[in-house]
Amino acid sequence: MPLTSSSPEGGRAMWNYAPELPLRSAPFLHWPPRPVAIARHLGRTWLPLRSRFFMLAVAFGIWAWFMPSLERTKSLEFGWIFEIWLRNLVLVTLVAGGLHVWFYVVGRQGDSLRYDARPFGRNKRVFLFGNQVRENVVLTLTSAVVILTAFESLILWAYANGHARLISLDSSPVWFVVFLVVIPWWSILYFSAHHRLLHVGPAYRRIHSWHHRNTNVGPWSGLSMHPAEHLVLFSDVVLLFLLPSHPLHLYFMMMHHGLGAPLSHTGYDALLLGPRNGRRARFELGDFHHQIHHRFIECNYGGYESPLDEMLGAWHDGTPEGAAVLAHRSRKRAATS
Ligand SMILES: [Zn+2]
Ligand SMILES: [Zn+2]
Repeated sequence: MPLTSSSPEGGRAMWNYAPELPLRSAPFLHWPPRPVAIARHLGRTWLPLRSRFFMLAVAFGIWAWFMPSLERTKSLEFGWIFEIWLRNLVLVTLVAGGLHVWFYVVGRQGDSLRYDARPFGRNKRVFLFGNQVRENVVLTLTSAVVILTAFESLILWAYANGHARLISLDSSPVWFVVFLVVIPWWSILYFSAHHRLLHVGPAYRRIHSWHHRNTNVGPWSGLSMHPAEHLVLFSDVVLLFLLPSHPLHLYFMMMHHGLGAPLSHTGYDALLLGPRNGRRARFELGDFHHQIHHRFIECNYGGYESPLDEMLGAWHDGTPEGAAVLAHRSRKRAATS
């Protein structure tokens, strides 16, 4: 559904494409409870051709074929750490680079399902090399991949030395499955909380503003941030020092940020598969909620499965009316503080 209404802020067309508006949070956050809607939502979000399923499949692939043995990870040595760094580098390049080529180089979809059709920043001094995409690639393939690898190395070392408790599907089948199902919510709650704090004073000015140079986003923008933010973003795996887990949990958790960020920042609602004039399958990508955050900044700090924004009165539903309500609330808060 193309949306051409004007925003109170900008007075011009807001989006090239928007999903159904007003944007609503996930049904399990609504009151009174709507069990059928909740069941439908849960079923949908775990389907193939969804980011969650893709991240779980990649996590399984890493555990099955690309994980060093725990014998080797008993001591922190260059060999296996270099191997996992290289694997992470290739993986992030394939996903972020593949999506960038698909959408923005080959342009298979044109602007179909693209939220914001403005071009990426070029010849702008705010970006490294004056170019948004180049800055995005450099920050992703240097700091992001190194820090992601550092956290993976730490947990693999902890598994091997008994500092993090290992389980298997045989030894703890119920906990194995429960933990796997809970990881996406852990990930979004952790993201919501630290992201909100990164919008406070010096944390925003010195650190998080790097990510917000991207007023419009592409796949490489997802991990384009200050190294200190990478450190915070990837550190949620330290939970595995407290809770018994399997390497599949580690990798599923890691993929929520390592691949989840490029997948949720493509700027498109979905990737269309199949022939152009036939009925096309959709690989669901879109995070319109976060796209709004990149445009308007002081709203939508969490995700549509997080209660944070509604609790804080920071939920922007994507409509001009929603923006006006939010602006009114901010003015009222400023007047009373
Ligand atoms: Zn932000
Ligand atoms: Zn972002």
